[in-house]
Amino acid sequence: MAEKNLPKINPIDRPFWQGAAEGKFMLQHCRTCGKLQFFPRAVCTGCFSAELDWTAARGEGKVHSFTWVFVPRNPAFKGEVPICYANVLLDESVIVESRIVGKGVEEIKLGDRVRVVFQDTSDPQIKLPVFELAGRS
Ligand SMILES: [Zn+2]
Repeated sequence: MAEKNLPKINPIDRPFWQGAAEGKFMLQHCRTCGKLQFFPRAVCTGCFSAELDWTAARGEGKVHSFTWVFVPRNPAFKGEVPICYANVLLDESVIVESRIVGKGVEEIKLGDRVRVVFQDTSDPQIKLPVFELAGRS
C-alpha cells in the first residue's frame, strides 16, 4: 500500500509547520512593504526584501476556484477520491491551494465560505491544513 508523503520541513517553512502543529495558519509578512504571502519563500514576492516575519491568518476565506480529482498522482490518495482540490482566497487576500473536505463538499460552489482545519499525519509534529465548508460541521 502506497504511503502519503509528508512535507520535508526546511528552515524557510519551519515556522509555517510549527504554527500548523498548534492549529494556526501562518502567513509570511514583509516588514519592508507589508505584503502577506503564501507559500513560504526566502524573499517577498512584492519587493524582494528578505525582511520577513510571520503572522497568523484567521484561517477563513472563500472558494476562489476548485476542481475534482478522480485519478490522484499519488496512489496513496486513491481511497479519498473524488478529491476537491481548490484555491481558497483567505480573508487576508492570499490564495492558498488546498483540499476541501468534510460535510457538504459534494455541493460546493464558488464563493462558499471555508475555514481551515488541520489533519493529523503519521508524524505527530506535522499537521496538514485542509479546508471545510463553514457552518456545515
Ligand atoms: Zn515586500
